[in-house]
Amino acid sequence: MGEHKASSEFVVIGSGSTGSSIAYHLARMGKSVTVVERNGIASGNTGKSSALVRTHYSSRIIAEMSLYSLNAFRDFDGIGYSGFTRTGMFFPFDEKYAGIARKNSEMLRSVGINEQESTVNYIKEFYTDLNTEGYGFVSYEPDSGYADPVATANAFIDKAKEFGARIMLKKKAVSVDSNSNGPSVHLDDGSEIKASKVILATNVWTNDLLSESGISKNKNLPINASLHDVIYLRRPDEYKGNRPTLMDPPSLAYYKMEGNSVTAIGSLDPSIDNKPIDIHGEIPEGASDEYLEDYLQRIIQRLPAVKKASLISTVSGIYDMTPDGQAIIDSLSSLGLDSVYVCAGLSGHGFKLSPAYGKIVSEMVTDVSPENATFDWRPFSKERFASGKLIPSLYSEVGTIY
Ligand SMILES: Cc1cc2nc3c(=O)[nH]c(=O)nc-3n(C[C@H](O)[C@H](O)[C@H](O)COP(=O)(O)OP(=O)(O)OC[C@H]3O[C@@H](n4cnc5c(N)ncnc54)[C@H](O)[C@@H]3O)c2cc1C
Repeated sequence: MGEHKASSEFVVIGSGSTGSSIAYHLARMGKSVTVVERNGIASGNTGKSSALVRTHYSSRIIAEMSLYSLNAFRDFDGIGYSGFTRTGMFFPFDEKYAGIARKNSEMLRSVGINEQESTVNYIKEFYTDLNTEGYGFVSYEPDSGYADPVATANAFIDKAKEFGARIMLKKKAVSVDSNSNGPSVHLDDGSEIKASKVILATNVWTNDLLSESGISKNKNLPINASLHDVIYLRRPDEYKGNRPTLMDPPSLAYYKMEGNSVTAIGSLDPSIDNKPIDIHGEIPEGASDEYLEDYLQRIIQRLPAVKKASLISTVSGIYDMTPDGQAIIDSLSSLGLDSVYVCAGLSGHGFKLSPAYGKIVSEMVTDVSPENATFDWRPFSKERFASGKLIPSLYSEVGTIY
């Protein structure tokens, strides 16, 4: 029992892009919302995100969610500043995947996405010295880009506050329980918040909170942590200015052109992105020398003038991976936590979908039926891993682009 008790209709634990979007959506509906965050806004993986915003996915429901989210980023002014910058994005595929990529582009167009069949020559209009080895079919999204992940989370939180939400920073939820009076969140200062519903937006730390709440290890959610390093370079004059992102499955890397002169390089390599790490061990502060060397070589092979670039920094973040690379959005009542919900396991691509996650969770916890909801959340249940009804991807052999 805590020293003192407060109450709130909804408690959201975590204030990354997911928790802040959920809080915003609920507060906008006029609900009483409290956000509990053990550090600061976007201090977790959101703060390390490359924050690419794209719509190229190979599963219809994720594509629809990404279009919904892209539209939210393009029209973010009513919420605040997201830093969304439209750059366009190329997806060149190896010729052997041309069939599936072309068919997938048709699917994307059928959901209303501005997905264009492009050419190697068109990429060369932006990158004249591009080495196009391994490029066959090229898909292009003129409307995609990137945003500022910290600004986005802060904008959601500030707007939620305007609607009356209470934000508790530097407060760790040490456990969650649920009984016939509803769920409670216990904080590290000994206090307790009673709620009608609690939502865990705790990314890779979700199983820790469940364990601390007395849930046995064998009921852990299938979420593994993996390390994702991003290299930041100051790019040379040849590539200055606003340029499209190059998602580059053939070299298992992405090259994001940020602002006028910064390039961010990250992996699309499933063997890296799915390699589990222990989050209770030491997490590196930046990329290893081997990784740095490897990924610098990859971009220099593609864009030779990058050899003149200077290194700015490297950043190590964590992906919360599930077996199919998609989120778990579900009630935890089967774990004995009635009225407790989760949105986690976003698998390294959850920033761009944060507007959709906020919408989905806000409808789920306010008793909208999944049939009438903006998005049917049932495909995201944790039971799918036991039943084998995983969310499909055409790209499992191509790279971590889903
Ligand atoms: C390096 C990197 C690059 C990425 N690039 C992209 C990209 O280009 N595009 C894209 O769409 N996605 C990308 N992602 C993924 C995306 O950034 C994440 O999926 C998303 O931001 C995760 O948001 P979140 O709110 O779920 O988690 P987090 O941002 O990790 O937030 C979880 C919050 O919960 C808090 N918390 C945890 N436990 C507790 C507790 N017990 N009590 C209180 N608070 C708690 C943490 O402090 C944290 O603030 C990238 C991720 C990384 C790491």
